[in-house]
Amino acid sequence: MIPQTDCIEFINPATGHKFGEVRSATETDVLRARRELAAVQPQWAAKSVKERARLVKKLQSVILDATDEITAVVNQDHGKSRLDALHEVFMTIEKIHHYCAHAPQWLARERVPRGLYFFKRFYAEREPYGVVGIIGPWNYPIDLMIPPIVSALLAGNAVLVKPSEVAAATGVLLEDLFNRVPELAPYVRFLHGDARVGQALVRSKPDLLFLTGSVKTGRIVAQMAVEDMTPFMYELGGKDAMLVLEDADVAAAAKWGVWGAFYSTGQACVSVERVYVNEKVYDAFVAAVLEETAKFTVGYSNDIDNPNWMGPLTFQRQCDIVNTHLHDAVQKGARILIGGKQTGMFIEPTVLVDVDHTMKLMTEETFGPMMPIMKVMDDQHAIQMANHSDLGLSAYVWSRALKHAERVGRQLDVGVVNINDTMSHYSVARLPFGGTKLSGNTRTHGRGESPSSPTRRPTPSAARPMPSTRSSGFGIREPIGCSRP
Ligand code: NAD
Repeated sequence: MIPQTDCIEFINPATGHKFGEVRSATETDVLRARRELAAVQPQWAAKSVKERARLVKKLQSVILDATDEITAVVNQDHGKSRLDALHEVFMTIEKIHHYCAHAPQWLARERVPRGLYFFKRFYAEREPYGVVGIIGPWNYPIDLMIPPIVSALLAGNAVLVKPSEVAAATGVLLEDLFNRVPELAPYVRFLHGDARVGQALVRSKPDLLFLTGSVKTGRIVAQMAVEDMTPFMYELGGKDAMLVLEDADVAAAAKWGVWGAFYSTGQACVSVERVYVNEKVYDAFVAAVLEETAKFTVGYSNDIDNPNWMGPLTFQRQCDIVNTHLHDAVQKGARILIGGKQTGMFIEPTVLVDVDHTMKLMTEETFGPMMPIMKVMDDQHAIQMANHSDLGLSAYVWSRALKHAERVGRQLDVGVVNINDTMSHYSVARLPFGGTKLSGNTRTHGRGESPSSPTRRPTPSAARPMPSTRSSGFGIREPIGCSRP
């Protein structure tokens, strides 16, 4: 039971100040929202895809007009700089643009080859699931929430949304943004609150569930979903490895590796979480990493013009995880070369060596500003260590020889390989994104692999994708090693 009076507080992680609160949804609120959405969803699904896209475009305008407001709230709520919040807004706008432009084509009826039936015609049609439940995380509270909602809407679904309690102020703002488009508002309901509200949403049996969050939550939700046979898509944690091969541009690898490890205070699912470096370039790489890390300034500002490169961690639980991993590594013999100190919610960007796979820092998702570097003998050793993980979101390979990098990249069991770059693949609206192993069972972004174009109750002649294939992405930086903008 969630009491009527329960509230979620908005706390600025940098200052510790409370700047608002929202009443938590109750079980009754969740069930009512679920019921009401089911009643109105057919009206939304009856509109043409073009019409839905036209209405979603209004949301895009609302978001663009509200850019200042959004960056101010995310900055207070999450602690990231307003510039980083702006980056989230841009990624979101880009996705809305692509999804709206292509949805009519992606969701169109498809003629299917008739095979032996010479005098018949066959078609595959895509139908919405109905009411889609979306449960989201706090780390990218705009870009991990709006695009899945939009893609579900474009496909004709109504959407129940449970934003993270850790970024609750942003959740309230998102609700407000949708309410500014009266044509969309009836088909999207926000349920604010913590894990209990998430559980209530799952119990309300949406027609499809989509979770972005931790593996721990994924397991719990999967068990609940299977009870009701609710289709369940998930995007979970990462432990992304960076491989620096012997023919890498070491300076560029260090510069962008450091950026990939510390950007957003290491709180991105695709952060560089561990680095494997060929012994021939190890010393040069470590020296370059230390030089780059020393440039990182840490602090908080609510100004657009923020001089700091890195902000605070977003909440206490995350601080505790980072500290546990750090202490475990040091106790087992890791050496801190730079960083390691903590003041309040701020942890210095930290580079460690002499690490191995007995340490949590190398095997569990840390989600903080830690860059552990391990020396490896050759490519096979690097590949073996990188694949030694339950997680498989993305990986980063550095080599001046593209074919060499691709050969290594293809042997990594992850959803996306980025060559001579870190993290940029995530922003590409039409590059399939998602993980292997425990990291995920779906692909978001672009066509077909997401709630953007679900197929349910296929017509008897409908084609299904080969169940044994999945798409994967490759991102390649050209020219190799271009400098930070
Ligand atoms: P989390 O699992 O703690 O919470 C995610 C959401 O699930 C929140 O809204 C939370 O309230 C809800 N929730 C928690 N317990 C629940 C339960 N028992 N039943 C139903 N709902 C529940 O994750 P987080 O800390 O918010 O996010 C960080 C995690 O998300 C990291 O592991 C990160 O790697 C992952 N993530 C993955 C991707 C991706 O695309 N693969 C993107 C961003 C973040």
